Amino acid sequence: MSVDMNSQASDSNEDDFGVNSEEDEDDDGGDDEDQGDIVDYYDGVAGDMEQQGADSFDPEEYQFTCLTYSEIQKVLCKEVNSIAAILKVLPAVAKLVLVHFHWQVSQILDRYKSNSSQLLSEAQVQPSSTCRSVPTPQSLQCGVCLQLVRRDALLALPCQHSFCKTCWEQHCTVLVKDGMGVGISCMAQDCSLQMPEDFVLPLLPGEELKDKYRRYLFRDYVESHFQLQLCPGADCPIVIQVQEPRARRVQCIRCNEVFCFKCRIMYHAPTDCPTIRRWLTKCADDSETANYISAHTKDCPKCNICIEKNGGCNHMQCSKCKHDFCWMCLGDWKTHGSEYYECSRYKENPDIVNQSQQAQAREALKKYLFYFERWENHNKSLQLEAQTYQRIQEKIQERVMNNLGTWIDWQYLQNAAKLLAKCRYTLQYTYPYAYYMESGPRKKLNVRCCGRSCCHNAYDFEYQQAQLEAEIENLSWKVERADTYERGSEGELSANDRGDLENQMHIAEQRRRTLLKDFHDT
Ligand SMILES: [Zn+2]
Ligand SMILES: [Zn+2]
Ligand SMILES: [Zn+2]
Ligand SMILES: [Zn+2]
Ligand SMILES: [Zn+2]
Ligand SMILES: [Zn+2]
Repeated sequence: MSVDMNSQASDSNEDDFGVNSEEDEDDDGGDDEDQGDIVDYYDGVAGDMEQQGADSFDPEEYQFTCLTYSEIQKVLCKEVNSIAAILKVLPAVAKLVLVHFHWQVSQILDRYKSNSSQLLSEAQVQPSSTCRSVPTPQSLQCGVCLQLVRRDALLALPCQHSFCKTCWEQHCTVLVKDGMGVGISCMAQDCSLQMPEDFVLPLLPGEELKDKYRRYLFRDYVESHFQLQLCPGADCPIVIQVQEPRARRVQCIRCNEVFCFKCRIMYHAPTDCPTIRRWLTKCADDSETANYISAHTKDCPKCNICIEKNGGCNHMQCSKCKHDFCWMCLGDWKTHGSEYYECSRYKENPDIVNQSQQAQAREALKKYLFYFERWENHNKSLQLEAQTYQRIQEKIQERVMNNLGTWIDWQYLQNAAKLLAKCRYTLQYTYPYAYYMESGPRKKLNVRCCGRSCCHNAYDFEYQQAQLEAEIENLSWKVERADTYERGSEGELSANDRGDLENQMHIAEQRRRTLLKDFHDT
């Protein structure tokens, strides 16, 4: 991986990638799939789960590469030059064709073979044969300002719509100042022929505007490319490259931003891209309604003492009466192993369609709040568990400093906390999916069923969700306890406790993968 962090600033002012430059193939690592050593709690966990047999395939695995500005230029340049050579057009024209077809080179080549002039007119770089204008050779008048000018002062694209240089300059200047890169077209009415960049550049006054134009072009080239995505991190110049564009998790090696490759917002499996957008918009619109939910304290359902939640785990134990209950539904924790389903699933009133409009609106709000509360609660748990992770790390540091074992000895604790975050994140993103999911066959997922009569509904998304939720809370409970034991005089967890924790990690991760498998297979 050849990410040169220092060259970023100067690179972005660098000359536009070669119109005629013959980029040699010293592509040093641009094609490597090496993602560098990403430091993030999401990573480094997968490896630990890898040796566990047939189930070990990670449905989230996705190959991507982080490229710098100059590396991307090389990639684009190569494609531009090869298309320019085959189509026998200038590189600047080839770029417009590539943008039009989202840089799908093989598609362009197929189209070119079957009908080359149709390809060029469809990409709006050549006038279509039907509407080719007939220029009046005698005309010395600019079509915009109507001034009479010398013939050699008139400029035209291949459509032969001639205008004076001043008018072209104004046209381009206004549009580039407006943020336009690709997409500047001929000034003639009803003519949408595209202006190649080497037609536009000499018309722009001043280096500053030329630089701006080059930056907008670069942005448009990357955004139109089906295999590329700009990192959404603040001021981050990294571009992510993939082979197969999909709604998968990618992470920038420069700014550590994690996002969905397809829609560039936070990663959101198992919810799909349109659904997560809908959900986030709804949450923003209804934020006031949902605000009252953010309670940090609840009363113990048994002794009514006020309990504050300061850990991520939703399995609560009352400090006074020792009653075990669920923070979300206040139900008895004992029933949660087998009936988590009842806690995470909203039970709709089957008769609601026959009731008044107000009753339906109330029901709709109730349903939304049910899912929002769970979504929000897992988000909070993630934050609280991040604090636990921090504490664990500090403690390991302290122990290693005092010669109580090495980092390797304690790493399993760190891994458990990392894995917990990974699982909880997936769980949080099951709720928008569940909210929009319609009852009926769409809820059924193609997941493996153990075949026993007990899991008649193992094909059900909500069943999978409940199973994952139960195992995550068990893991969270154990991670928080492991953290507490550490403080005791015993010093360390017994081998038994460690085995127990590692077993729980495995179970939770398997649940997560089972749930995600269907999402990623489609
Ligand atoms: Zn003019
Ligand atoms: Zn034209
Ligand atoms: Zn970035
Ligand atoms: Zn997405
Ligand atoms: Zn109590
Ligand atoms: Zn519950």
